[in-house]
Amino acid sequence: MRISKLFGKTQREIPAEADTLSHQLLIKAGMISQVAAGIYSYLPLAWRVLKKIENIIRDEMDKAGGQELMMPVLQPLELWQETGRDLAFGKGLFTLSDRKERKLALGPTHEEVITELVRYNVQSYRDLPLLLYQIQTKFRDEPRPRAGLMRVREFTMKDLYSFDTDEDGLTQSYARMLQAYRNIYDRCGLPTLLVEADSGAIGGKDSHEFMVIAENGEDEIIYCLSCQYAANADKAESIISKIEGEEPLPLEEVDTPGMATIEQVANFLKVPQSKTLKAVFYVADGELVFVVIRGDLEVNEVKLKNVLQCYELRLATETEVIEAGIVAGSASPVGISGIKVIADNSITSGANFIAGANKPDTHFKNANYPRDFKADIMADIARACGGDGCPKCNGKLSSSHGIEVGHVFKLGTFISERLGAFFIDASGNSHPIVMGSYGIGLGRLLAAAIEQNHDDKGIIWPLPIVPYHIYLCPLYMENPQVATTAENLYAEFEAQGLEVLFDDRKESPGVKFNDADLLGIPIRVTISPRTLETNSVEIKWRSEKESQLVPLEEITARLKELIRAAS
Ligand SMILES: [Zn+2]
Repeated sequence: MRISKLFGKTQREIPAEADTLSHQLLIKAGMISQVAAGIYSYLPLAWRVLKKIENIIRDEMDKAGGQELMMPVLQPLELWQETGRDLAFGKGLFTLSDRKERKLALGPTHEEVITELVRYNVQSYRDLPLLLYQIQTKFRDEPRPRAGLMRVREFTMKDLYSFDTDEDGLTQSYARMLQAYRNIYDRCGLPTLLVEADSGAIGGKDSHEFMVIAENGEDEIIYCLSCQYAANADKAESIISKIEGEEPLPLEEVDTPGMATIEQVANFLKVPQSKTLKAVFYVADGELVFVVIRGDLEVNEVKLKNVLQCYELRLATETEVIEAGIVAGSASPVGISGIKVIADNSITSGANFIAGANKPDTHFKNANYPRDFKADIMADIARACGGDGCPKCNGKLSSSHGIEVGHVFKLGTFISERLGAFFIDASGNSHPIVMGSYGIGLGRLLAAAIEQNHDDKGIIWPLPIVPYHIYLCPLYMENPQVATTAENLYAEFEAQGLEVLFDDRKESPGVKFNDADLLGIPIRVTISPRTLETNSVEIKWRSEKESQLVPLEEITARLKELIRAAS
C-alpha cells in the first residue's frame, strides 16, 4: 500500500476528548473516526488489524471444535420477554418497532436466538455437545460511552455458545474455551489474568473475565499473592478487620452539632471511622431502601443489586430521603420503620458503634446489632479493597486496574428451560440443555493490545496483528536513484507476498520516521543516498534502537526470514 494513496492521515494533535492512551494513538494514527458517542468508523489500517484479530479468534474457535454460523442482529422483543432478560438489560437494550408496530431489539448478545435455533435442531443426547459461534455486530446502549474503542455502543463480538447434556459436559466445554481464549491472547501479545466475575444481565451462576492489567483500566481487580484468588472488585469477597473485646454498653444520645458526614462525626467524637455505622439510601426498582454498613467501608452496588434482585438501582436523592421522613446527616437504623433495611455483615464485626439518631445534630453512642436495631436482610454488600484479608487463605489482598478483554459464563439451564430447549436422554427422559456463553469484543481487544504495547512515540504492534509487516521508507525521494530503488523494492516485496506500507511521499526524514513509529509497523526498511553508496538498505525493528545494513540483493529473503522467525 502506498501511503500517498492510503485513506486516513496521521495527526499531530491529540483530540481533547481522547482520555485514554489507546484512544489518543488510534486517532493520531488515523485509524478510527468517531461518528457519534460510542460509535466509530474503522479506517483501513485499523480494519486490517481487526481482520487479523478476527482470523486468530476464528482459528482458535475452530480448533476447539466450534462451528461458525451467522444469526440476525434484529430479534423479536418477545424472545427477550420470554427469558425476562429484556428487564435485566433494561435501557441497555436498543429496541425499535417495525412498520406493523411489532417490537424488535438490536441484539446485545444472542442466547435467545441461538437457543431457539438449537431447540428446533436438537432432540437427542446424540446431538450434543455443541459449540456454535458467530463473529458479528452487537448493540448496547451504554450509559457512558468512553475511552475510544473500550466502551462503545456498537461493536463486533465473537460469541460462542456451548450446549451439553449435564454439568460435567459444561465443565469440559468451559475448560476448552478457557484454553482457546488463552491461546488468542497469547497470539495477540496480551498477558491476561483470569478473574471471578459477576454475571450481570447475562445471568447464570458462574462467570470469569480475562483481564489485562492496565493503569487506566476501568475495572478494579482484587487478587491474592499467596493463593490463586482473583476477582473483579464487583464480585470480590474479603475478610475485613474485626474489632473485638468490647462489652455492649447502654445506648446513649450525644450532641454532634453541624456534623453530618462519617468523617466529621468520627473526628468530632474522636473515634475511628470503623467505630461508626454509615447509612446510605438507594432506590431499587422505585422503592427506597436503607443500607447500613460499617463507616470505614463502601457499598458494592453490584452485590447490593444481586441481594435485592432488582433491575435498576441508584442512589436516592436528598429530596427522596427527606420525603421519607429521614433526617439527612443523622439517618439511623435505630427506631426506623416502614422502610427496608439491608445491613452489611460488617455491622457485626464490632460493638458500641456511633449511629445516627434521626434527629438533627444528634447521634447515638453504643449502637449494637441486634439489640438496638433490626435488618430485613443481612448480607455481604461491602466493596473488597486491597489490604483486606483473602477469603480463601487469609493472606493479604492486593488491587490493580484492568481492562476486561473476555467474559465467559456458565449459564446452566435457566434460558433453555424458559425457551423449552430440551433433549431426550438414553433412557427416554427429557432434560433441559445445559448452556455456556463465551464472548470477546474485537475492538476492545485491539485497544487493549495498544494499551499494552506502545512507547512515547506510538504503537508497537505484536507481529500477528500488525496492519503491515514492513514500512518501506525511502529518504530524499527527489534523488532519482532512491526513487527508482524504492519503486523496484516495493514491486518486489508485493510480488513476494510481503505486507508492505510504502512511504512514497516527498516528506522530510523526520516526518517519515515519526509516522513509522506512530503507526507501529514492526520492521522499517530505509533507503537513502548514503545506504545506496554501499548498495544497501537499513533495517530496524520498531521495538529496538539499533539498525543494520543489508545488501539490496539479500533484503527480500532476509525480511521473509525475519517475519517467519518472529511469527
Ligand atoms: Zn489467598
